[in-house]
Amino acid sequence: MHDEIPIDIEDKVWKRADARCECENPKHGHGYLCDEPLYHRSRGSSRSDGWWIYIEGEWNIPTPEICTLMCHYCYQLEINPKHPEFKTYRGILKNRRKHRSYES
Ligand SMILES: [Zn+2]
Ligand SMILES: [Zn+2]
Repeated sequence: MHDEIPIDIEDKVWKRADARCECENPKHGHGYLCDEPLYHRSRGSSRSDGWWIYIEGEWNIPTPEICTLMCHYCYQLEINPKHPEFKTYRGILKNRRKHRSYES
C-alpha cells in the first residue's frame, strides 16, 4: 500500500531534502533535525547512508508535501516505535550528532 511512490515524487523529495535526512522527531535522539547525509543509490538499504520515504497519514496519491526523506534509523524508529533495536538506533543517531558538532 505504502510501498509505491512515483519516481517523480521521490526525486522532488530527494532534491528538496538536499540528500539529507529531514526527520524532526526529537524522540530519536538527534535533536531538532537529523540532517544525516544520504547516498542516492542506498535507497531502501540498511546501510548508514541508506534512506526511505516516510509518508504522513493515509493517502491515495502522494505529494512531496506529505513525504519526508529519512535515514534508515529514523525511518525504522518512525514506522515502529517498538522496534527491538530502538535503543541501539537511538544511540547511533545521538552519536552522529556528537560527531557533527565537532566538525563545525
Ligand atoms: Zn535520520
Ligand atoms: Zn529521526
